[in-house]
Amino acid sequence: MQRKIETDVLVIGGGTAGFGAAFAAASRGARVRLVEGTSKIGGVMAFCPGMPWGGGFPIGRSIGGVFDTLTTMLCTMQPPSAEVRPSTLANFGAEVIYDHEAAVFAMFQMLEDAGVEVHLSTFASAPVMEGARIVAVDCHDRTGPLTIAAGMVIDCSGDGDISAKAGVPFALGDGRGNMMGVTLSFSMLGAPWEQVFAGDDPYFTKEAARGIAEGRLHPDLAKLYLMRGFHRDTVFCNSVHIRGVDGTDPQQVARATQEGRRRCRQLAQFLVECVPGFEHARMSELGPTIGVRETRKLEAVHRILAQDLAAATKFADGIVCCDNPIDDVMRSDTAMTHDAIVAEGSYYTIPFQAMVPRALPNLLFAGRLVCADPAAFASVRGMPQCMAMGEAVGIAATMAHTRGLAVQALDPAEVVSALAARGVRGIGGEALADYAPALEQMTL
Ligand SMILES: Cc1cc2nc3c(=O)[nH]c(=O)nc-3n(C[C@H](O)[C@H](O)[C@H](O)COP(=O)(O)OP(=O)(O)OC[C@H]3O[C@@H](n4cnc5c(N)ncnc54)[C@H](O)[C@@H]3O)c2cc1C
Repeated sequence: MQRKIETDVLVIGGGTAGFGAAFAAASRGARVRLVEGTSKIGGVMAFCPGMPWGGGFPIGRSIGGVFDTLTTMLCTMQPPSAEVRPSTLANFGAEVIYDHEAAVFAMFQMLEDAGVEVHLSTFASAPVMEGARIVAVDCHDRTGPLTIAAGMVIDCSGDGDISAKAGVPFALGDGRGNMMGVTLSFSMLGAPWEQVFAGDDPYFTKEAARGIAEGRLHPDLAKLYLMRGFHRDTVFCNSVHIRGVDGTDPQQVARATQEGRRRCRQLAQFLVECVPGFEHARMSELGPTIGVRETRKLEAVHRILAQDLAAATKFADGIVCCDNPIDDVMRSDTAMTHDAIVAEGSYYTIPFQAMVPRALPNLLFAGRLVCADPAAFASVRGMPQCMAMGEAVGIAATMAHTRGLAVQALDPAEVVSALAARGVRGIGGEALADYAPALEQMTL
C-alpha cells in the first residue's frame, strides 16, 4: 500500500547543506522532514571522514550562523572534539579539524533537538507536479514507496535529480559535461607528526615523483595531500583523485570507488615503505564511497560569476562571506589549482538568488547545486558555505510557506536580516571585520 505523509518543508539530502536547511527551517517552527539516501548525514563529509571544514573564517573571522554553533559546540566539549587550525595549503585560511563521529553525532543531535524528522536510507525518486508546483515527492525506503506531500521543497541532494525531473534547467560540470575529479580519502594511524611533517613541502612532491617513477603510484598522485588529522599522529590523505566520473551515474560511482580503493591501498603501502614517519602506520577510515565534488548546477535567478567574486562583490542579497580560492580539482583535461580568487584580506558574499529557481514557486536549492560558473563554483563550494547556504534557504522556505508566497516573490533583504539576526556575520551591510571577533580572540 502506498504510504502518504505530509510536511511543511521537505529537505532532500542530508549533506552539510541539507543539515543547515533542515535545522534552520525547524528552528523557526516549521514541520520539517529530511530524506537522506544513505544511513548517515554529512554527505561528502560522511563519505570522506575527517575532511576539514575549510572556508569558515574569511579574513580570519567566523562566518557565524549554524556553522559557528556547531564548531563552538565541538570545540568547547570536554575533551574538545574539534580545533581551528591554519591550513597547510596555499590560499586556504583557517579550517576546522574535528573528530568525525563526534561531529556527526552533534549534527544528528542538533536536528533532533530542533524537531526535524530524519528519514535515513530513504531515496527521493520523483517529484509529483501540479502545474509548476512540486506538491509531493515520491520516495522509497526498505518498506516500499512513500509519498511526502510538502508545502516547500528544498533540494540539497548535490546532484539535483528531483529538481531536474521537475524541469529546472541545469549545467553538468563546466557546461560541457566535464566535471571535477572525484576522490576517495583515508587516514593513516600511528604516523608521528614530527617525523611525517619534518619537511617543508606540504605536497610531498619529491616522494610522490619517486613513487610515480617506480610505477608504484598513479601519475595523478604527483601531489600528495597529506594533513594532520584531529587525533594526534593521524594523517588524513585527500590524495586519490579519479578523473572523468559522472557522479549522477551509480555504476560509474561504483567503478570509481573500487578503482579508488585500489589506488588508496597502493598509496598506503607506499607511505609505509617509502615515506619517513609512516613505517609503523596503518590505514584507517577509508571512505565508504567516493566524494563527488560537482555534478549538476541548477539555473537560478542569479548566476554567480567568478569575475564578480574576484572583485570582492558584497551582493545586496549576500547570505554568507567567503574567501576560498578557486579549488578546481582535476577535470579530465586540467590539473589542480588553488589560485586565490580575491586579494588577500578581502572576501565576497554568496547571493541568495543563486539558490532560487526562475520558475518553480515552492522549490529552493543549496550547496553544490548553487548556480555558478565553473570557476566561481570551485570557490563557493566549501562545507561551511554549504551549511550557510542551507541555513539561508531553510529560513526563506519558512517565510514563503507561512506567507503563502512564491519563492521568487520573497524580499531577499528580509532573508538577509533574518540571517543576520541569527548571527550570520558580514551580511546585510555589516563588514565582517567589524562584527566578528578575530580568530585569536575567540574562545574556541
Ligand atoms: C573529495 C572532496 C574534497 C573536498 N574537500 C573539502 C575540504 O577540504 N573542505 C571543505 O570545506 N569542503 C571540501 N569539499 C567540498 C564540500 O565537501 C562539498 O562541496 C559539500 O560537502 C557539498 O555539500 P552538499 O550538502 O551540497 O552536498 P553533498 O555533501 O553531496 O550531500 C548531498 C546528500 O544528498 C544525498 N542524496 C542525493 N540524492 C538523494 C536523493 N535522491 N534522495 C535522498 N538523498 C539524496 C546524498 O546521499 C548526500 O548525503 C570537498 C569535496 C569533495 C568531494
